[in-house]
Amino acid sequence: MKHIAVLTSGGDAPGMNAAIRAVVRTAIHEKVEISGVIRGYKGLIGGDIVDLSARSVDNIMQRGGTMLYSARCLAFMEPEGRAQAAEHLRQRGIEGLIVIGGNGSFQGAHLLSKEHGVKVVGIPGTIDNDIYGTDVTIGFNTAMNIALDAIDRLRDTADSHDRLFLVEVMGRHSGHIALNVGLAGGAEEILVPERDYDVEEMVKSIAAGRLRGRSSSIIVVAEGAAKGGAMAIEEHIEAASGYEVRTSILGHVQRGGSPSTRDRVLASRLGYHAVKALLSGESDVMVGVDKRGTVFVPLRETWEKQKEIEWSLYDINKILAG
Ligand code: ATP
Repeated sequence: MKHIAVLTSGGDAPGMNAAIRAVVRTAIHEKVEISGVIRGYKGLIGGDIVDLSARSVDNIMQRGGTMLYSARCLAFMEPEGRAQAAEHLRQRGIEGLIVIGGNGSFQGAHLLSKEHGVKVVGIPGTIDNDIYGTDVTIGFNTAMNIALDAIDRLRDTADSHDRLFLVEVMGRHSGHIALNVGLAGGAEEILVPERDYDVEEMVKSIAAGRLRGRSSSIIVVAEGAAKGGAMAIEEHIEAASGYEVRTSILGHVQRGGSPSTRDRVLASRLGYHAVKALLSGESDVMVGVDKRGTVFVPLRETWEKQKEIEWSLYDINKILAG
């Protein structure tokens, strides 16, 4: 393989730049030409592809977002769109593609490989950590740190005013962020989409905590846990718990900012291994990490199989919430 390309797709995640840097520098080290596709599959269909050099990725490691920009692209869901994308790659002599993104992006990469023989390797880049086959995804650690910092700040004001805070964190259909920051932030309750909860039971337990002298309460709500989000349950909890309730939706602030050490290290490692894998003939796989070290997982498994959240943390929190 003499020429490969890299793109970022789906929601941006802190650490994507560190992954791009690793891909570019490893490719150059291996004497392989490297191009960057602008705005994910949208740029691939439009032929928006630029040459990258070791200097193109100077000074990006510490920046959030993605220097290649990202996009969601409906046209790539259609065979015609993918054919157009494959043609642009063929015209430029690009034989392999590294896709940094989430589940959806991997489905697109799999189809591109299956239909047009493009060699593809995926790198898991999403704050949601909802990808099967890797213990962690790029951006997850940074997003948790940001959410935790916000929870700590909210605790100060909750304590001073005898308030209950509902803190809604990101995660789409998964509770990985909520569970971890809930435990780390000393939340009294954690609501995740993977488990049903009983609002009445929750209110009883909060009221009991208040009787035991608790001066504030924090409930961490994963965005997919409550229909209509945390706002939808605010009124009811206020009426039943006796607390003054405030809701704080952290939203996109969790995506921005400088990536953590962990995310930079993860991104560097995965970027390096993605290039090595592509050059050694691997395709249609995602590179991830688990207790065995760096692992390669068939792309199809990453969305067909379900990644469990760590239920033991949920049970531990029930006890520690006191
Ligand atoms: P995140 O988890 O951050 O949202 P993602 O990669 O899952 O990242 P999606 O919006 O689901 O984000 O997918 C990104 C892009 O991948 C889509 O806009 C589309 O271009 C492509 N894609 C998603 N699903 C498919 C599919 N089934 N077939 C072909 N292409 C797809």
